[in-house]
Amino acid sequence: KKNVEHQNSQFLEAWVEQFRPYAKEGNCANYIPALELKNPNELAISIIGSDGIEMKAGDTTNTFTLQSVSKVVAFISACMDRGMSYVLERVDVEPTGDTYNSIVRLESHEPGKPFNPMINAGAITVSSMISGNSSQEKLDTIIKLLEKMVGKKLIVNEEVYKSEWETANRNRAIAYFLMDSGYLDCEVEEALEVYLKQCAIEVDVSDLAMIGLVIGNDGYHPILKKQLFSKEVAKLTKALMVTCGMYNFSGKFAAFIGLPAKSGVSGAILAAVPSHASVHSPFPTGCGIGIYGPAIDEIGNSVAGVPLLKHIATEWNMNIF
Ligand code: GLN
Repeated sequence: KKNVEHQNSQFLEAWVEQFRPYAKEGNCANYIPALELKNPNELAISIIGSDGIEMKAGDTTNTFTLQSVSKVVAFISACMDRGMSYVLERVDVEPTGDTYNSIVRLESHEPGKPFNPMINAGAITVSSMISGNSSQEKLDTIIKLLEKMVGKKLIVNEEVYKSEWETANRNRAIAYFLMDSGYLDCEVEEALEVYLKQCAIEVDVSDLAMIGLVIGNDGYHPILKKQLFSKEVAKLTKALMVTCGMYNFSGKFAAFIGLPAKSGVSGAILAAVPSHASVHSPFPTGCGIGIYGPAIDEIGNSVAGVPLLKHIATEWNMNIF
């Protein structure tokens, strides 16, 4: 990764400051006690192009947990290990329009089959399918793939993990329901441990941008010059990000921003910008975007991060449609 002074960095700094005050409209996630302690006014962005050039602005040295962004990587990992058809027998690819932690549809639609891997029910199912004979082995499988994407060692934030583990009543309820209807590939507590630990993996905005870069490049890591996962898996993942990645805001996000993206309740947003959508930007051969702004709205998306991304996508004509 090359860190260069780009003339556009000044724009980026100005845009971060323009959107930082939007944080007032939201709050840090409070159902995970450790996340509530974060500073809601932080805002950071990194954009990394296929040539390895990085542009960043704002509070870029901060680290945070992946939360729901991990659902994307776990899904890719399960497809690599088990094959796409095995995974899709256990989790569907339909958006719900419900909140990410909703339980209501588990009894409709092929009773028990989760609608998609980007909501908690689908993600817990996916985590149960990851290769490994224990929660630690399954977690290691996900972390290894992530480390290849970002090019550095990653760790689980134990404080965030413990804080969520102790308060995860709703995710426990979802996991027990999935077990009852036959959609879990391992014991309930093992699947939950993998899921909650993958959510607590600590990253920074550059890591998010690298993940977005590889997904946007159809699984090809342009800096390592290596295909990490198949094009088919990448295409399916991008389709899921477009239709379900921003929870029950995905429709508006696709309509008015038009990028495959995934958010997390930590305030993280990852966007994958393929080359055809970035030809008019300073990253004409594709890029990954990572944003962190911990104040979130009721849906669970960063209240400063989404408008910042919208502004950049509009200014630089980034839209896959
Ligand atoms: N760990 C969080 C949960 O399961 C992740 C949710 C999210 O980021 N939307 O509730």
